[in-house]
Amino acid sequence: MADPLHILVTNDDGIEAPGLWCHAEAMADVGRVLIVAPADNQSGAGTAATYRRDIGVRSVESTVPDSKAYAVDGTPADCVIVGLRHLKEGRIGLIAAGINLGPNLGNEILLSGTVGAALQGGFRRLSSLAISLHASPDGDLEWPTAQAVARLLARSLADGSLDDGLFLNVNVPSLPLAELKGLAVTRVARGGYLRLVEQGGGPGVERLSRRIEPDLRYAEEGTDIWAVHRGLVSVSPLRATLTDLPSLERLQPLGSDLFSRLRSGL
Ligand code: MN
Repeated sequence: MADPLHILVTNDDGIEAPGLWCHAEAMADVGRVLIVAPADNQSGAGTAATYRRDIGVRSVESTVPDSKAYAVDGTPADCVIVGLRHLKEGRIGLIAAGINLGPNLGNEILLSGTVGAALQGGFRRLSSLAISLHASPDGDLEWPTAQAVARLLARSLADGSLDDGLFLNVNVPSLPLAELKGLAVTRVARGGYLRLVEQGGGPGVERLSRRIEPDLRYAEEGTDIWAVHRGLVSVSPLRATLTDLPSLERLQPLGSDLFSRLRSGL
């Protein structure tokens, strides 16, 4: 029998989050699952990795058949790094991060531990998926819809109907599957969801608190925020290479001139 697709499932909401186990369950329909998730909620950890202390790893009981699960005392990125280097039992073909409770949209996806975990796969040219449920705090949580989307995309990445090695950020409206309006491949909006609000009425700034509310100023048609607000699943292809190629080409010829000016003290 051919080696099954090995899928590393992680998240940023922590090993006990229901979304992680929904995700693992869905991924078990697609391949062999390895769960490696942060011991605590690491939402907002972004791309951070731990390097000033040791990282604890503990085996936990998995509710998903034929899978192993580990809690890592670190960030989502740590989980992927540790999973790929120390815990895997076959060649990992897909990194699946989520299902996050709450949206990861706009430029603030750089703050997202869910996306930060998938980025580690992107760096290694592994197919990687960050998936989030766009739910309001008091709204219904339609995990089965997000599970169906995760299954579809994982299968499409595995069978080659999408390119291999894609790094995708996916947001699923929290609606029953039958009520979804469609699926849009989107670009990342410039806005986000996090706002800092000053507390207290005194002079000077002493305390700020976070509010989560969508910034719709930049939610133009074709963006991720635009899509989810219309009941569409948003799938944004991301890039794990940071170099700006047009600027590289434009600036490279200027290198020796800049160095001459540096040497001549200009
Ligand atoms: Mn989270």
